[in-house]
Amino acid sequence: AVSARGVRKSFGHLEVLKDINFDVPYGQVSCILGPSGSGKSTFLRCMNHLERIDGGHLSVGGSLVGYRERNNKLYELRPREIAKIRADIGMVFQSFNLFPHMTVVENLIEAPVGVRKQSKREATDYAESLLKKVGLENKRNAYPRTLSGGQQQRVAIARALAMQPKLILFDEPTSALDPELVGEVLNVMKELASEGMTMVVVTHEIGFAREVADMVTFMDGGVIVEQGPPDELIARPQTLRAKSFFSRIL
Ligand code: ATP
Ligand code: MG
Repeated sequence: AVSARGVRKSFGHLEVLKDINFDVPYGQVSCILGPSGSGKSTFLRCMNHLERIDGGHLSVGGSLVGYRERNNKLYELRPREIAKIRADIGMVFQSFNLFPHMTVVENLIEAPVGVRKQSKREATDYAESLLKKVGLENKRNAYPRTLSGGQQQRVAIARALAMQPKLILFDEPTSALDPELVGEVLNVMKELASEGMTMVVVTHEIGFAREVADMVTFMDGGVIVEQGPPDELIARPQTLRAKSFFSRIL
């Protein structure tokens, strides 16, 4: 579903991604771990063209992200075409990012009605089934500020699912939560994984990565230092950098 070959990205003189090679097959969960500033969020943002890459190839679902290739040249897509690509890629952030002036169900139907041109009825029916899935069917008419962080994040996941995405990107989805609320969000993510959703998850939750990830990637300083199945990488990191990182957070 995702394929990155030699991806590079700089901000001015700062090289944030250096030659990133990364693959996620459909139906798999890939976790990215690494210290602050290692480029994890930037890489996720490149996957839906919130950031432009400076080099290499990055494709999602078989098409280049943000570009079209013609006569060996790359042309950037129009905003409308980019919006179309993004509609297939869900994104869940650390900070929930719900629309504060809309109820839960309004948050969920906004994009399906506005972008996918679903009828309100159809979108609402699907939204209600998703709220049930994340255990919040009784909150359909609540405003985000009246919900706990864990509930808001479950709404954010349901909102991403409402667009029936091919891929969901999670950027530290539980980092802003009180410890007792982390589990309810991870459980929803585990269920999605077991249903075969393709997911890329930036997280510090080692337990989740161990249990759910098919592949774990350790990034540091803009490079992929190690990559492998969780049992190997987390239990027996090979490089000094990965060893010291895991010994600090375990
Ligand atoms: P964290 O764990 O703290 O979220 P991260 O691994 O997600 O870190 P990034 O947010 O990708 O790291 O940032 C990587 C580097 O790029 C950092 O040095 C950051 O300051 C820099 N950076 C990120 N976005 C920008 C930007 N828009 N302009 C300039 N520099 C940026
Ligand atoms: Mg980040």
